[in-house]
Amino acid sequence: MSECIFCKIGAGQIPSKVVLQDDDLLAFEDLHPQAPVHVLVIPKRHIGALTDAGATEQALLGRLLEAATRVARQKGIAESGYRVVANTGRNGGQTVFHLHLHVLGGRPMNWPPG
Ligand code: AMP
Ligand code: ZN
Repeated sequence: MSECIFCKIGAGQIPSKVVLQDDDLLAFEDLHPQAPVHVLVIPKRHIGALTDAGATEQALLGRLLEAATRVARQKGIAESGYRVVANTGRNGGQTVFHLHLHVLGGRPMNWPPG
């Protein structure tokens, strides 16, 4: 996916403010934060959306969620609470079609979401 912006961020071809990473995933600061803490967690390998993740991605999905909890601890919001969001598809509000988890915190989150 040579034109995918998150593939390029994952490969280090576009700079990002890295929060944590390993061989398979990267967490980085959202460019337009919607909360005091707003970090994105992506697989480095291209997966378009949650809907595109099948049984073979089961372990990777678990690792993305676990990375989100590490981000929360590292950012100091694990105790106060936070929200993990995967906007999926058009009605889900997805704008970048490379699977990502938003980790949002540092303020109370509203429910229902907009
Ligand atoms: P979504 O609407 O769920 O697809 O989320 C895409 C997110 O990516 C938005 O919150 C954007 O602010 C964020 N974003 C887009 N481009 C970049 C970038 N180059 N670096 C960091 N975050 C980005
Ligand atoms: Zn991609």
